[in-house]
Amino acid sequence: MKILKIDHLGIAVNSIEEGRKFWGDALGLEFEGTETVEAQKVTTAFMPVGESEVELLESTAPDGPVAKFIEKKGEGIQHVAFRVENIEEALAELKEKGVKLIDEKPRMGAGGAKIAFLHPKATKGVLVELCER
Ligand code: ZN
Repeated sequence: MKILKIDHLGIAVNSIEEGRKFWGDALGLEFEGTETVEAQKVTTAFMPVGESEVELLESTAPDGPVAKFIEKKGEGIQHVAFRVENIEEALAELKEKGVKLIDEKPRMGAGGAKIAFLHPKATKGVLVELCER
């Protein structure tokens, strides 16, 4: 498995409009619009930071994973995403190593990326996303 870089940090917010006031207006990160991924009940906004990005996540439904995260922990960093060269290969390797996965097969994420989540129980409490673009 080859990890290329930290692709993005996923940050759960109650409202992307509100989140933009800090991440966009105060920090000056460029806002490139939003995209809704219905399957995950989330609207995302990617904001480039050098080689990586910040991903703001706003839930589209009260029972979505981002809404549940905020309910339990409040707004904040929800996941760390690593870009891998080949996501199928990476998942197979991790499975072989006995790492608990949420997604055994990649699914479609925002921006047409192939993504998969590892189980936080296997990662010392950090929700890790693998992505391939
Ligand atoms: Zn993400």
